[in-house]
Amino acid sequence: MAKLVAGEIDTTVNFNEEQPAFMTKGGPGDTSTGGNVKTDAWFQSHKLPRDILDKGTIAQKAKDQEIFFCDIPFTQLYMEIDGNYQPCCFGKGDGKSNILNTTMDEWMKGDAMNGIRNDMLNPKAGRQGEYVKKHCTRCLDDEDRYGKSRRTACMKIHSNDASFWSKVNRAVQMYEASGFFDFDERMITIPAEAMKVKKKIHHVPLSNITFEIFTNHKNKSVDSPYCFPSPMNKSKPIGTESLLRAIRRVGITNDEFTTHGNRHTAATIIGNHLPQHRRDVVDAQLHHKIIGAVSYTHLTLPTICSV
Ligand code: SF4
Repeated sequence: MAKLVAGEIDTTVNFNEEQPAFMTKGGPGDTSTGGNVKTDAWFQSHKLPRDILDKGTIAQKAKDQEIFFCDIPFTQLYMEIDGNYQPCCFGKGDGKSNILNTTMDEWMKGDAMNGIRNDMLNPKAGRQGEYVKKHCTRCLDDEDRYGKSRRTACMKIHSNDASFWSKVNRAVQMYEASGFFDFDERMITIPAEAMKVKKKIHHVPLSNITFEIFTNHKNKSVDSPYCFPSPMNKSKPIGTESLLRAIRRVGITNDEFTTHGNRHTAATIIGNHLPQHRRDVVDAQLHHKIIGAVSYTHLTLPTICSV
């Protein structure tokens, strides 16, 4: 099968099928031992671009362990259920940054995350880097003990996913070229004047799947500056009522569902099904006014599933 070129999306991976060994966290042939990380299974997929391991690429430096590289600080945002930010679910936060005092944008562009990224790209820093030592302790310890860690598991899987790795490459290249992390490209920013409450800018980060959906939509509307252009006039976006009209057109009535209050519905789902999430953190993420002891009164998950 032909290799993909950089940036090309691999749509052939079916995660319901058994994956080859290089797409598993550990698996057969993994000979890593304490203090001796093996990277043989990284970048093995035949779907990767041919030049992926050329001298000087981030892939070559990571595989040859010239740098202590992990793709997560370049691709993911992580927050604990108490609202504290961390580099990932295994990483350590800075002890002060929380969704209630730091925006996601500020965290992703802040000292801790940039310090980790700089250490990971600098062959002289690596495992000894100030920020890596402070925030990635668990992975360092696990690799000393077992030769494996969350970092090595992620790198093995992500480096063999051609679609994902092209995004890592792009994020790293942009970071190296500009010196800052471009979170905006994966963020919806709602201007202050469009916000009903508080009249403050609100940022909504995009998960991988949402980012992919938006990217696909944008690719289909190349002749418009909008992701969802109006069918009547491509120089304008669809109207505020378009979604509601589409829902009515497929037969869902006003009694069953209305688009108004989608965020309340999300809050209800989180409140009902993920009660471990702190209410004020959920409110901050949804940009809701804190509404004290009043319960959310919108659709519940069973209601939504039934429409
Ligand atoms: S090195 Fe480990 S702790 Fe640090 S970001 Fe990667 S997976 Fe998380």
